[in-house]
Amino acid sequence: MYFVNYSYYVYKNQQKKGQTQFTNVKSNVLSTLLLFLGKMNYSVLGFFIPFLSMWVAVLIKNRMCRSILIFSLLLLVGCKEDSTSKKVEEEPREVQVVDSSKIEIVTRRTFKSFKGMADSTFVRLADYNDGFAYDLRYATDNNFLKAQVYDCAECYTRVKTVKALIAANTDFRKRGVKIKFFDCYRPNSVQYKMWKIVPNPQYVANPVKGSIHNKGGAVDITLVTLDGDELDMGTDFDFFGKRAYHDNLDLPQEILDNRKLLKETMEKHGFWSIRTEWWHYNLASASNDQIANFKWNCN
Ligand SMILES: [Zn+2]
Repeated sequence: MYFVNYSYYVYKNQQKKGQTQFTNVKSNVLSTLLLFLGKMNYSVLGFFIPFLSMWVAVLIKNRMCRSILIFSLLLLVGCKEDSTSKKVEEEPREVQVVDSSKIEIVTRRTFKSFKGMADSTFVRLADYNDGFAYDLRYATDNNFLKAQVYDCAECYTRVKTVKALIAANTDFRKRGVKIKFFDCYRPNSVQYKMWKIVPNPQYVANPVKGSIHNKGGAVDITLVTLDGDELDMGTDFDFFGKRAYHDNLDLPQEILDNRKLLKETMEKHGFWSIRTEWWHYNLASASNDQIANFKWNCN
């Protein structure tokens, strides 16, 4: 570009000195052309260069000026080539195709710590361990009350109960099974709701006296395989009848074995059972705790 402008400068000087041999019309046309060349995009310029070269060579009779112009035009062709090759470099040369099925997504959950927490604090079990299964029946109407008494399905209980449950579940998982919860801590206000629906101490604990569920020390559970299939315990949860009794031995051996595994492992970790409900376990150390009415947030 410098040479194009220089050519124009030489031409103008010649014009001032009266040395130019161009006619006025020819001079104006040439000066316009030179300015136009200076502003043109190189790629567009490259297209016109052969025509322009021929035309300019015919017009210019001054040898020196002609040589400079031809040299400038040749240089412009070189610039154009450089510009083209630069564009090629900018284009992506290689596209890497990754098979998405081979990407391993590693998710690592972080759990809360018990550090500095009192054993009596109410916590959400799922915040401390994800090795359990849940079917919290009182958050649905699939229960003997035929009514939903919890606003949402959450398993809260006291820290000491959570610790004992995690320890028991660690043992269960070594045997290829895990705990599934039907119910955990139950606020005293929910006990009142249940009592209102079924005011019969044979099925529902009197809320004034409360149950160990209200103290955060009881859980209703069964066992499922690690894939989530329930082990046969002989009856559904909250089946009130002799078939659900621990001392009913008139049952298939598989059911007795499943109940035995549940009972012996839970007892090993500080829980005791009640005779009439195979699913109910109390943490022994929670018996003297206060009835609570802590309510969890459903949002
Ligand atoms: Zn229970």
